[in-house]
Order: sequence, then C-alpha cells, then structure tokens
Amino acid sequence: MAQRRTVVDIAAGVSSGALSASAVLEENLAAIGSREKEIHAFNLVTAERARERAAQIDTDVKAGKKVGRLAGVTIALKDNMCTRGVETTCSSKILAGWKPPYDATVVRRLADEGAVFVGKTNLDEFAMGSSTENSAFGPTRNPLDTSRVPGGSSGGSAAAVAAGFAAASFGSDTGGSIRQPAALCGLVGVKPTYGTVSRQGLIAFGSSLDQIGPFSSTVADSALLMEVIAGHDPLDSTSIPQPAPSLLNVLDQGVKGMRIGRITDMPEGSSPDVLARLEAAFEALRGAGAQIVDVKMPSMSFGLTAYYLVAPAEASSNLARFDGVRYGLRVDAKDLNAMYGATRAAGFGDEVKRRIMLGTYALSAGYYDAYYGKALKVRRLIADDFAKAYESCDAILTPTSPTVAFKFGDKTSNPLAMYLCDVFTIPTNLAGHAAMSVPFGTGEAGLPVGVQVLAPALGEAPMFRVAAELERNA
Ligand code: GLN
Repeated sequence: MAQRRTVVDIAAGVSSGALSASAVLEENLAAIGSREKEIHAFNLVTAERARERAAQIDTDVKAGKKVGRLAGVTIALKDNMCTRGVETTCSSKILAGWKPPYDATVVRRLADEGAVFVGKTNLDEFAMGSSTENSAFGPTRNPLDTSRVPGGSSGGSAAAVAAGFAAASFGSDTGGSIRQPAALCGLVGVKPTYGTVSRQGLIAFGSSLDQIGPFSSTVADSALLMEVIAGHDPLDSTSIPQPAPSLLNVLDQGVKGMRIGRITDMPEGSSPDVLARLEAAFEALRGAGAQIVDVKMPSMSFGLTAYYLVAPAEASSNLARFDGVRYGLRVDAKDLNAMYGATRAAGFGDEVKRRIMLGTYALSAGYYDAYYGKALKVRRLIADDFAKAYESCDAILTPTSPTVAFKFGDKTSNPLAMYLCDVFTIPTNLAGHAAMSVPFGTGEAGLPVGVQVLAPALGEAPMFRVAAELERNA
C-alpha cells in the first residue's frame, strides 16, 4: 500500500518550502496508476488540472507569496459535488456528461486554501446505498481487501484515501454515508452538525439530512479540514450564521472530567468483534479520566423506519428536476411526457427508482399523514431522546457499523439487510447533530472497526476531543 501522508504534514511542508506540492501529487498519481484499475475509486481523475495547480502552488511558495492553510493538500471529491466545468454525475446515467457552471461552496473554500483536486469519486447512485454497489459505473473495491465493499455511499472517497490516491477526501452523509465507509476503510469520517457546512452545490438527496464532511487518516486532519469548510454561507438558507468552530486547539485537551454516554437499550445485531472494540473504547476513555454514564435511547431503533420515509420523500421531490430538459441524458420520444418517462426510465437505476416510488407513495394524498407525518413525529421523538441523554453526558459512543466490511453481493439481493448497515448512523442525521467515526483497532479478518462519537448540535469541539483521545489509544 502506498505510504500515506497526512494533510497537516503536507500543508506544513509545502507552505514552508520543505516539500513540493508537485512531488506530493506525483506520489498520489503513481498510486492511482498502480491500483485504480483494481479499486475504481474514481469516476474521473483530473491529473492535468491537478498538475497545473500543484505547480502554481510551488511557484507561489518560491516567490514568497502567501499560500493557504491547505497548500498542496491532495483532495478527492465525491462526484455529487458541483465542480465548475468538470463532469459531475452522481454516478448516474441521467447526469452523465453534465458539467456544472459553478463550484460548490465547499469546493471553493478548499481551493481558496490551496487544495489540489485529484478527481471525482464513485458513489452509490445519488448517494443511495451503503456499499457503492449501486453506482451506474460499477462498484468500488475496498483497498484493504478487494473482495469486500468499501461501504457507501461515499465508497469512492473512502477508498481514495485508504489507497493513498489523495491525502483526504470529501463525502456527503444523509444517513451514514461518510461515517460507515470511513469505518469500513479504517479512516476518520465526520458528519457535521446540520447547517455547519454549506450544502450549496451539493446535489441534494434528502435536503433536511444532507451534510458534507471529510475523510482523513487522522483526527487532526479532519479538524483542519472542518475549520476550512465550515462556517456560515449566505448561499445556503439552512446554513447556521456562525463562524467555523476551532477544533485543532482542542485535540490535546484530553477527556478528563468528560461524561461519555453508553446506550443501554442499543439496537441489537452488532457482531461480537465490533462490540468488543466498543467496550475497549469505553475502557480507554475511562482510563483517560472520563466518566462513563448509562443513557437510554428508546426511539433509536425506529430511526431506520423514519429515515426510509423522510429520505425517500425528500429524494422523490429533489430528483423530479432530472427530466431530460436541463441536465445530462435525454431519451427522445413522441411528446414531452413520453420524453420525461423514457429519460427517467433509462437514466435512473433500480435503487433510485425504488426510493422515488417509496417517497412518492409516502407523500401522496391519503397516505401523507399515515407515513410521512408519522415519520416526522418519530424524528421528533429521536431528537427528544438525544436531548434527554445529553442532559447527563457530553458525548455518546456506539459502533459506527454493526460489522466490518462485508463481501460483494452479500446484501444486494436484500434491500432491508443493506438498510440495516445504518442503524447507528441514521438517528444523528434525523436529529441534525454532529457525529464522527474513528478507527479503533481491528475485528474479524483483521479488518478495521470504527467507533462512532455522537455529540449534540454544534458539539464538534467536545466530539473532536473524544475522537483525539480514542486515536491516542487505538
Ligand atoms: N445508506 C443510506 C441510504 O442508502 C445513507 C446514504 C447516505 O448517507 N447518503 O440512504
């Protein structure tokens, strides 16, 4: 496996002139050259653009110009984030060939700080899935064991970092799509508090749930990346009018005196190897001076059901715009209505169609109250349970994923089994809170296990303190 440099090291090295941005990029491109065929992390590698950008940064450093906080840091972007003039597909045939006329806010903020984009990564079509097997362009493989999935839906972003193709990457998390692949690929992955990171230019799946966040090799790398991308954006009406949180300066604070919640009525079904690592994580935090407190989350197991009404309902509405008129694919037919139908039938894959049908049904007259309305009530109960739990603790630990990375095809014939991958990650999205996955040792077959740190809304600072402590003890 290619040697992985950290974001923090690259940024420090390049800006001081000790390291060349071009040399860093060439290491990543060499890794891509040797393993991308097998892994398929990318829908598109933008090598030439990246080379120009890296060379420019090196020139600026030599000329003594001020370079950004991410000077020369190689970054891969999930292919559902708009990049100006660069194909953005959501791994769907319906968007193939579409080039956005603008950059997402996150992309712009990263570029302004000197990031070098290496390409657009593969995902489950429109971010719907947990294994990246739902991409219209073929699956991504887990670099740690290519007979296994990398998780999803941001599987390409996770695989890109795990394989040394980029120092860091970005994904989107609607129900776990950053944290679960981070866990399965042995990386740190962050789902920020809803409203902390701008969604402008992120192609919407479930607008009340979606957040962009980083994948990285270390907790400090994610802290730095969050400091760059977070903070108010007037172009996103759900963006919280607050500056980005300071996170790098909390990493050394330790967890002495912090109260860490253990959910006593946690949904069942996790494998013993994962539960053993969770126990070890509690032990490590206790050893570092934290107090472990029992909390209850009676509504947690209803999260999945509520999510599979709310998310498809929002998706069915968001995806209505892909009709063959403005974006990507058009299948000609005898009249306009037939063209819409033919385009959508040919352009969307099975899982996307399943979600559109579920969502349309849940929102239809006569069923709205029984399904969508009820799901919103459950969503509220979950938020209430969290609020109650956080009266007695500062953060909560759970597994990120019930199992380590599974084999290709294991869950493709059974959507419900696939949906269960997100039983621990979904409740946070419904509540709008912060959460992240931290690698914490290995389980079955020597594969990585991720521990999930949950924190209240805007609780990124305590969450990163806990994450850093776990990393020190992993
Ligand atoms: N796996 C979940 C789903 O299929 C979550 C996806 C996501 O977070 N984008 O909807």
